[in-house]
Amino acid sequence: MEETVKVICITCPKGCTLDVTREGETIVKVANGCKRGHEYVRAELTDPRRMVATTVRVRGGIHPLLPIATSAPFPKPRIPELLAEIRKLEIEAPVTMGQVVLSNALGTGIDLIASRDMQSDSAHT
Ligand code: SF4
Repeated sequence: MEETVKVICITCPKGCTLDVTREGETIVKVANGCKRGHEYVRAELTDPRRMVATTVRVRGGIHPLLPIATSAPFPKPRIPELLAEIRKLEIEAPVTMGQVVLSNALGTGIDLIASRDMQSDSAHT
């Protein structure tokens, strides 16, 4: 049986509401919005992903936490698992912005990247 759901596109600031007709898992029709919005809807309903930005504990740094982000949008259903993995991590200062903090997170091929430099504490004494 077909059903129509409304999905708000977050691809650009216009934030269009798209009417998506689907039958089970199959998307039958997308109304409103542009081509990018239609691609967003298909990805959102089949393989939703989000960029993840958080912090990780750092040992011997000038701050106890280092901001990090994923190198690419991460599969949304696995984000809690990723955050649990990050909570177990403790990395060693110094760290350079862009450094890979965790490679191939949960086997997805997506890395976690340092969002800033972190000097070691000894550089400040
Ligand atoms: S449908 Fe197109 S115009 Fe509308 S928010 Fe999405 S990307 Fe922007």
